This record gives sequence, structure tokens and C-alpha cells, in this order.
Amino acid sequence: MTSLADIRSQFLNFFDGAGHTIAPSSPLVPDNDPTLLFVNAGMVQFKDWFTGALSPDFPRAATSQKCVRAGGKHNDLDNVGYTARHHTFFEMLGNFSFGDYFKAEAIEHAWKLITEEFGLPKEKLLVTVYHTDDVAFDLWKKIAGLPDDRIIRIATDDNFWAMGETGPCGPCSEIFFDHGADIPGGPPGSPDEDGDRFIEIWNLVFMQYERRTDAGGKIVQIDLPKPSIDTGMGLERTAAILQGKHDNYDIDLFQTLIGASVDLTGVKPIGDAKFSHRVIADHLRSCSFLMADGVSPSNEGRGYVLRRIMRRAMRHAHLLGAKDPLMHRLVPTLVAEMGGAYNELKRAQANIEAVFEQEEVRFRRTLGRGTALLETATEGLQAGDKLDGRTAFKLYDTYGFPLDLTQDALRAKGIEVDQAEFDAAMSEQQEQSKADGGKFAGAGTEDVFKAVREASGPTAFTGYDHLTADHAIV
Ligand code: ATP
Ligand code: MG
Ligand code: MG
Ligand code: MG
Repeated sequence: MTSLADIRSQFLNFFDGAGHTIAPSSPLVPDNDPTLLFVNAGMVQFKDWFTGALSPDFPRAATSQKCVRAGGKHNDLDNVGYTARHHTFFEMLGNFSFGDYFKAEAIEHAWKLITEEFGLPKEKLLVTVYHTDDVAFDLWKKIAGLPDDRIIRIATDDNFWAMGETGPCGPCSEIFFDHGADIPGGPPGSPDEDGDRFIEIWNLVFMQYERRTDAGGKIVQIDLPKPSIDTGMGLERTAAILQGKHDNYDIDLFQTLIGASVDLTGVKPIGDAKFSHRVIADHLRSCSFLMADGVSPSNEGRGYVLRRIMRRAMRHAHLLGAKDPLMHRLVPTLVAEMGGAYNELKRAQANIEAVFEQEEVRFRRTLGRGTALLETATEGLQAGDKLDGRTAFKLYDTYGFPLDLTQDALRAKGIEVDQAEFDAAMSEQQEQSKADGGKFAGAGTEDVFKAVREASGPTAFTGYDHLTADHAIV
């Protein structure tokens, strides 16, 4: 069986052979973009080369980039466990041309890699192009010999990429694999395209334009003199295909992680427990990699996103009946699987385990009671009903349940949280805190937090939560 690690090497070797410089993954915390929560695509580390702000060190590159999509513009947190293809952490394989080769060569490389190197059957592949991109349409016909009905023209932004309001942009072309008629879902562009039958494996972005603000303040689109290429292929999705699986969670790596979770909890991965094991395995990866790159759980910004992901996993460990902290005990399995490719994981292992354990010990002080409260509060509720926002706020404020955790817990039942009521309770609390602030007059901010935390009793961190959390999420 071709392992995840084999596929990663095959990809990089292929592009090495085609004159690309193999660059390491950048850390998950972007060092060139304070507005971006986490690195969510391979191109991020090369942004300044694409915009022309810096001149590239080499004309073409290939990487396997660590990506996290759990907040901000791309947020796949709510897809985990529900689709066969989304993770919060995944590896994006990519080849890049910085004003070097363009469309024809990008399509040639992609087609050669997937059909010759990976040996994917041509009849299971289909592609999309931006509706006006006749050049790409004709190239797919010529290079891949695909029939017209398997080169689908898409008119939405799904097939037009832009870095922002201004900057480089251009049409994209995506490659899909058909996993077979017994899986629900339609081809790209159809009303039921969100199903998991046709899975997008590779996105090729053709940066051929630039949007600029002209003298009159209007945004204009000009042709780039030297167009560029940015591509992103999902390693786990590719592994699923090459291992004869439909579902990413059935690939070698995930089976090992889920196996460890099954062993430690003694709960078989069926029904609701299957879902829980998947969430745990997924979140184990994103949290561990984030910690390896220096993010620590906290109540603001990136650290709060990390804490929220952790708590979601910990709630599932609790649902599986874990009597003691679980997450830190799964770290050795993850390190054994991925520490070879990502040494930072090995280096940070002891710290990751310690932080996981500390967080889980802390959250477990209130998790059981919070879960019981949630159960009582939703007892008479049906799908379509709303949980009152005051209860959601109490869960947040007293039991350390971030709002998204409560929402996530209720989603399977089709129950939503009354957000307006939650927000109102939050504002009241903040007003109250401001008023109480007088008590701590003269104290530094840290001291105020500490005092509020102490005043709120053994639930410790909740004092922090209501003062800073949620507002600070990037
Ligand atoms: P989808 O439409 O399936 O959500 P996407 O269009 O958002 O994917 P891109 O932004 O084009 O994805 O990213 C490039 C590639 O990275 C995708 O073609 C896919 O193979 C992979 N990918 C994207 N998001 C995820 C994820 N959450 N988990 C695993 N792989 C992903
Ligand atoms: Mg997506
Ligand atoms: Mg897509
Ligand atoms: Mg895409």
C-alpha cells in the first residue's frame, strides 16, 4: 500500500525532477501576514514573491505545506466528522511558478503526475475551468484528451482566485475524482455538488491578472507581464484514492490514530463513537502541530482558537467515557507517525503532552457538570428549536464551554442557540465587570484578571473567558 509518507515523497520527487526547488513547509503561524489566523495554503509563504514585493529566490518551487483551516476565511472545523474530505489540519502539496512557466506546463505536470506517476484512471477524473477561460478548456482537451462534458465551466468565485481586493488574481482549474455512483453527490457545478462522490483533489490557480486602484480610486484589472502558477493538492484526499478508500479517515495515518483512541478508551468506532474518534484524531493533529509551532492555549487570538479546538476534542473524549485525560496519551502515536516528516513535532513532544494534560485536567473540572446542564436544558427540545441564550452563556461563563462548543454539541440534534440572547447576556456580564473593575482600582490588567478569576471560584479560567474571549478571534 502506498503510505501517506510515500505519496508526499513521490510528489516532491516528481517536481524536483521537473526543475523545482523543494522548499520546507513554513510554520503554521504566518510571519508575513498579521491578518491571517493560520497558514491555510501552500502559497502563503510565497506571497511577497507573487505580489512582486520581493524578488523570488528561485523561479519554481514545490512544497508540502502544513495547513490549518479552523477559523477566519477558510473554516473547516464544522465539517470535521461530517464530510469524508475535511480536516482542520492537513498537508497541501503544491508546485509554484514565479513568473516562470504558466498554464500549459502546469496542466501538463498535473496530468502527468496523477495519471502516470500515481496511475489514476482517466475515466474517473474530471476538471473544472473558469467559464471564460477558453485557453484552459482547450489545454485540458489537448493535453488530457478529456471529453467536453468532463471539462466543466464554472462561473462562480470557486474558480476565480484573488489574493484580496487588490493584488494578483486569476482563474482556477480544479481536478476532481469520481468515487462512484453509490456515494451521494453531484458533479461540480450541480445543485448537489457538496456531496462526497466527486472529491476535489487539486486546485490549479493561474495568476494572470493584477487588480490595482487607479488614479480615480477605481479598481482595475490588468494583465500581469509574467503570470504565475500556484497549486494545492490535498495529501490526505490523494492518499484516500491511492489506498482504495473513499473517506480520508480510512487512510493509514487516520486508522492508526483512531486505533490508538479506540485502544485507550476501549470503545469501538461505531455510530456516535465513530464520529467522536474521528474528531479526536483530527483535532489531535491540529492542536499538536499548532503547539509545535509555538501556539499556546489562551483566551485570545490564535491561542483561543487552539483552546476551542482542544475542548471540542476533550468533550468527545468525555462522551466516549474517558475517565482521565486522554489527548496527551495519543501524542506518542502521532509523533511516531508524523515526527519523521516534521521534526518540530518530535522536538515539542514533551511540551505538547504537558499542555494537553494540563488543559484537559482543567476542563474536566467543569466538563461533566456542563454536559449534564446541557442535557437537562435540551431535554424537551426538538430539531428546529432553540436553546435559550442564557443557558448557553452560563455554560460559557461558568463551565468553560466556548459558544461554538455548545453549538457543535447541539448540531447533531438540529438545535441552535439563541444567539441574540447569548450576546445580551455577554454584554450584561461585561458591563458588570466594568462596574466591578472599580474594586480593583489601581491594579494592573493581569491583577484584575486574576482577581476576577479568583472571585469566580474553582472554574478558574472562566474569569478570563468573559473578559477577553470571542472578541479577540482573528
Ligand atoms: P473543498 O471545496 O473540498 O472544501 P477547497 O476548494 O476549499 O476544497 P482549496 O482551497 O482549493 O480547497 O485547497 C486546495 C486543496 O487542498 C483542495 O483541492 C483539497 O485537496 C485540499 N483541501 C482543502 N481543504 C481541505 C481540508 N479541510 N482538509 C483536507 N484537505 C483539504
Ligand atoms: Mg473548502
Ligand atoms: Mg472547492
Ligand atoms: Mg478549491
